[in-house]
Amino acid sequence: MPTDLNLPEIILQNKSLTSSEVTPGLTFGDLASNPGVTKFLKALGGNQSISPEIKSLALKYLEKNPNIKDVEVGKVPKGGDSFNWATSQLGVSSSDPDVLSHEASHASRLKEESLYRDLLGMSKRVVGLNNLVTIPAILGIRSFVGDLGTRDTILKTLAGVSALAAAPNLVEETRATAEALSHSDDKLRTAIRLAPGLASHFAHDMVAPTAYYLAGSNLD
Ligand SMILES: [Zn+2]
Repeated sequence: MPTDLNLPEIILQNKSLTSSEVTPGLTFGDLASNPGVTKFLKALGGNQSISPEIKSLALKYLEKNPNIKDVEVGKVPKGGDSFNWATSQLGVSSSDPDVLSHEASHASRLKEESLYRDLLGMSKRVVGLNNLVTIPAILGIRSFVGDLGTRDTILKTLAGVSALAAAPNLVEETRATAEALSHSDDKLRTAIRLAPGLASHFAHDMVAPTAYYLAGSNLD
């Protein structure tokens, strides 16, 4: 979950954590033990006072999905917080328990291959592609389709189709934040911490649908 609104979190990264980013041998399963949490806080720069919270969160996620115990945990630059299912690595830029919880939620659903994971991968690719082609497509449609009614129907259809393509990713992000909230003992803090990241996902993924919709709204 990003802190910077311009950097939506990427959970489908092809990039592995570099060797300097991975804390040697640290896995999600280690966070359920005191020495593991100490190592995590040392690597991520957190205060030891939050170790009971980190440990309790790790236990909650491991109880629900023991498979995530060997997910590698590493430090990434600010804004790069992510779960990379291709490499089974969870990257966080700080020891923030809310961000760790959000990423652990992604990991517990996406570590194993599944149709859901394939669908999500497809959604992310379509959104990425769509954000590149939207403006040229709108300009093309506006110059080549003379009839206003037809033009608006095409643009409104593209708005609907691209919103539909973005939906799985937005649902997954909402689920991860909702689960982080459900496991939090300080729900207000967690909501304040994670809401901007969720909003940035919506903003990023709805660029194409919104642009198509507005272009089809007879503004001229
Ligand atoms: Zn996320």
